[in-house]
Amino acid sequence: MLPNIYKPTKTIHSMILIVDDNESNLYSLKKLLESKDFQVDTANSGEEALGKAIKNNYALIILDVQMPGMDGFEVAETLADYSKTKEVPIIFLSAVNTEKKFITRGYASGGKDYVTKPVDPEILLLKVKTFYNLQEQNLAMKKTQESLELEVKGRRESQVTMKSQIDHFQLMLESLPQIAFTLNEEGNIEFVNQKWFKYADSDLDFPEVHEDDLNIREEFERCMRKNKALEMEVRIKNKDTGDYRYHLLRITPVNDENGIKNWVGTFTDIDDQKKVEKEKDEFLSIASHELKTPLTSIKAYVQLLDRKLKLDKQSAEAGFMTKVQDQIEKLNTLIADLLDVSKIENGKLKISKKPVILENVISNAVETIIQTHDENKVKIDRHGVKPDILVPIDEIRIEQVLINFLTNAIKYSPQNNQVIVTTFVDEEEQEVRVNVTDFGIGIPDFKQDAVFRKFYRVEESSLQFQGMGIGLFICSEIIKQHHGTIGVSSKVDEGSTFFFTLPLN
Ligand code: ADP
Repeated sequence: MLPNIYKPTKTIHSMILIVDDNESNLYSLKKLLESKDFQVDTANSGEEALGKAIKNNYALIILDVQMPGMDGFEVAETLADYSKTKEVPIIFLSAVNTEKKFITRGYASGGKDYVTKPVDPEILLLKVKTFYNLQEQNLAMKKTQESLELEVKGRRESQVTMKSQIDHFQLMLESLPQIAFTLNEEGNIEFVNQKWFKYADSDLDFPEVHEDDLNIREEFERCMRKNKALEMEVRIKNKDTGDYRYHLLRITPVNDENGIKNWVGTFTDIDDQKKVEKEKDEFLSIASHELKTPLTSIKAYVQLLDRKLKLDKQSAEAGFMTKVQDQIEKLNTLIADLLDVSKIENGKLKISKKPVILENVISNAVETIIQTHDENKVKIDRHGVKPDILVPIDEIRIEQVLINFLTNAIKYSPQNNQVIVTTFVDEEEQEVRVNVTDFGIGIPDFKQDAVFRKFYRVEESSLQFQGMGIGLFICSEIIKQHHGTIGVSSKVDEGSTFFFTLPLN
C-alpha cells in the first residue's frame, strides 16, 4: 500500500476552474462536476480566468477556446509563463476548431487535452478525473520531495555540527597537559592525543607497564564489567628515555540515556610527586629510627633514677618524676607510630597471627586505657556477646587498634566521658565485630572515609586536639592485613562509632 501522502487527497488543490463566456455552458458543466463531488470555480472570460488562476490554486482548468477578448489559447500560453500556473493541466473545450491545426495549437500552448463540443459528459468526466488525480498525485509527490530534501538538508547540517563538535572535543583533549584518550563501548581505543605516543608505539593498546604494576587492560575490563570508573597508579615506559614514570590513570564512563556510550581516559604524570613523597617517607623513617635510640636510653636512665632516688610518693619530686615518665611514654608512642608508617610504606608491617581469645585482648586494651587515664575522666562499658573464642590474630597489633579507637573516643569527647565497647559474633558471616562508641564531637559525613588516610585530620577539630593523623591509617592497615573491614558511622555533636571486623578463620 502507498503511504498516505501519495494518495490524491481533496485537501491539497481540490478546485477545478471552468472558463466559458457562455453562462448556460458554465452552469451545466458546474452542475455536472459538482454532482461528482468536485469543487468548482468559474470564470466567464479569459481575463477573469487569469486573475483567478494567479490568486488561487487549481487542480485543473477547463478552458473554452472561443471567447471574446482573450481566447483559450492565449490564456493557456499566459498561464504557461507563470511558475505558479505552468503545471496546472488544461482541458480545452471547443465546438468549432476541430481541425488538426487547432488541436495541435492546443497541445503546443501547454494544454494537456482537448474535448469538443457538444461535450459528452462521460468522456469529459473521465478526462477530468484522470487529470485531477494525476495533478493531485503530482502535488503530493512534490510535497514529499520537498520534505525529503528538507530532511536531507537537516541531516547534512547535523552531520556537520557533529563533526565540528568531535573536532572541538579532540582539540580540547589535544590541549590537555595529560595523555588523553577515548575508548568505545566495547573498550577499544578510539582516539588518542599526541602525548600518547611518548609512551606507546601505536594506539591499538595501552602503553607498556612496569612488571611490578597491575595490568591496565585487565583492571579496565574488571571495571567495564561493573560499569565503574577506573583509577590506578601505574608506571608506564617513556619511549625516548626508556624510564618508567608514575602516572595516575583514570578512565571514566560517559553515559547517555541508554547506558554507557564510551569512556574517556587520562594519564596524569605524578612521578615528581611520587619522588617527593618517597623522600618524605624516607626522612620520616630515618628520623624516627634516630629518635628511637636516644629515647630508649632516656627511658632506661629515668627508670634507674626513679628506683635509686626512692622518692616519697607524696612529694613534689615524685610528681615530677611521674610526669617525665608519662611524657616519655607519649614520645615513645609517637615514634612507634611513625616507625609503623614507614614499615607500611615499605611493605614491612608484618603480622604474625596465632589463635587468641579475643575477649582477653579487649579486656587488656580496656585495662591499659583505664590505667593511663584519670579514673574520673573515663567510663568504659562492655556490651554484646563476649567473644570467648579463639580467633587467629596478631594479638599485639589488634590491641594497638583497640587502644587507638579507645584513646580517640576519649580524646574527641571532651564533654562526655562515656565509651561503650560492643562485640558481635556473626556465625553466618563467620566474623566477629567490635564497635567502639563515644558521645563526642563526631565527624561530618563527607569526611568519614578520609580519617583512615595517612596524615588526615578533620580540620574543624585539628587545632583543639593534638595528634598527627596516622593512628587510624595504621589501624586500617592492620585490619586490612587480617582480611577484615574497618569503618566509622558518626554524627556531628552526637558521637561516633568506630568498628572493625575480623574473620573467624
Ligand atoms: P589523630 O587523632 O592523631 O589526629 P587519627 O588517625 O587517630 O589521628 O585520627 C584521624 C582524625 O580522625 C582525627 O584527627 C580526628 O579528626 C578524627 N577522629 C578520630 N577519632 C575520632 C572520634 N572518636 N571522634 C571524632 N573524630 C575522630
